[in-house]
Amino acid sequence: MLEDVPRDPFADDPNDPSSAMGELDDAEPLTAAERDEAITDLADVEVFRSLLEPQGVLGLVLDCPECGEQHYFDWELLRGNLRQMIENGRPQVHEPAFHPDPADYVSWEYARGYVDGVIDTEERH
Ligand SMILES: [Zn+2]
Repeated sequence: MLEDVPRDPFADDPNDPSSAMGELDDAEPLTAAERDEAITDLADVEVFRSLLEPQGVLGLVLDCPECGEQHYFDWELLRGNLRQMIENGRPQVHEPAFHPDPADYVSWEYARGYVDGVIDTEERH
């Protein structure tokens, strides 16, 4: 009976032209406020990475605005996404790390708290 179902001609094609067109349509320029926010986020990510990567933290776990689930992003992916947003105005690439170990990732709030704690400690010395 499966033979009676008409096959999607692009079902096995990773370069499905219809999905590629959809991605291009989603690209919108950032507002000035969004761009400022992305630049601030990029600076935060660099600080988080410099302090947390030596502790064995591989990246951040973030709530995804698109699907409402949590995704794991390594440092390079975070930086690449933000740079792409700033330069091209593209929405964040929906491409979380593959098979992440949740123990290797921390939330943005944790990273922020950790950095603030380190700065406090350094200022007291
Ligand atoms: Zn998602």
